[in-house]
Amino acid sequence: MIARLLEFTDIADEVRHFVFEADCEQLDFLAGQFVSLNESIDGKKITRAYSIASQPHGNIFELCLNRVEEGKLSPRLFDMQVGDCIEMQGPLGYFVMRRPASDSLFVATGTGIAPFRAIIKDHLPKDRDHQFTLLFGVRHESNLMYREEFEKLASHHSNFRFRPTLTQPGPGWKGSSGRVQTHLAELIGDRRDIDVYICGMKAMVDDVRQWLKTSGFDRKRIIYEKYD
Ligand SMILES: Cc1cc2nc3c(=O)[nH]c(=O)nc-3n(C[C@H](O)[C@H](O)[C@H](O)COP(=O)(O)OP(=O)(O)OC[C@H]3O[C@@H](n4cnc5c(N)ncnc54)[C@H](O)[C@@H]3O)c2cc1C
Repeated sequence: MIARLLEFTDIADEVRHFVFEADCEQLDFLAGQFVSLNESIDGKKITRAYSIASQPHGNIFELCLNRVEEGKLSPRLFDMQVGDCIEMQGPLGYFVMRRPASDSLFVATGTGIAPFRAIIKDHLPKDRDHQFTLLFGVRHESNLMYREEFEKLASHHSNFRFRPTLTQPGPGWKGSSGRVQTHLAELIGDRRDIDVYICGMKAMVDDVRQWLKTSGFDRKRIIYEKYD
């Protein structure tokens, strides 16, 4: 399949939101799944996975990417101009809402927010019976991608809580600070009957999984996606 870039917006330092159109009538996927993008670089086919950051909507899909300095594919994607095309496969993957849903904690760092943007926007309007918390960790306040969207969702849905946390807060920041790991005990409390979804780089995902396991969580309740 081919994806054509329709528009892009820089939404944080070295982070870009892309809107693509697939060359099919309908891109069927479950919120949380990813696509693979391929390009031939120096005669070698390079494939990388990217979580879809939007809900299913015709043949349109959105991505949230950070440019990895010295990376192979991500700098190429940042060079793309509106109208440029790239080969894609998918949707793929199993990082989707469990059925039936339970009260859930979503833990993201950096562009690990991408599948949660899709999952939360897709699921929240259909489910008023469960409590959902998004714990989102970044370095600086300016890196809180989609902040307004999540704040708006939290103000419209009493069953959704948005908890951003900064590892390098500025003097004006009144919210939480520190790594996501430091907020787990407070957000989870005594509950062991909730699902915890984790997405981001391996070091964070492994740390959170370890904390959950030693806190007595059933591994079936820990759902994760590692980016590296
Ligand atoms: C299922 C899945 C979904 C993903 N979804 C996204 C997404 O929505 N947005 C996104 O930006 N990336 C996502 N990634 C990561 C993406 O596939 C690439 O690994 C990333 O873009 C780097 O590719 P590259 O060719 O530019 O770098 P490479 O040449 O492959 O170099 C990778 C190196 O960069 C480091 N690195 C720094 N930041 C990242 C990062 N964000 N991801 C991976 N490696 C990083 C790694 O530690 C590694 O050493 C996802 C990965 C997986 C497996």
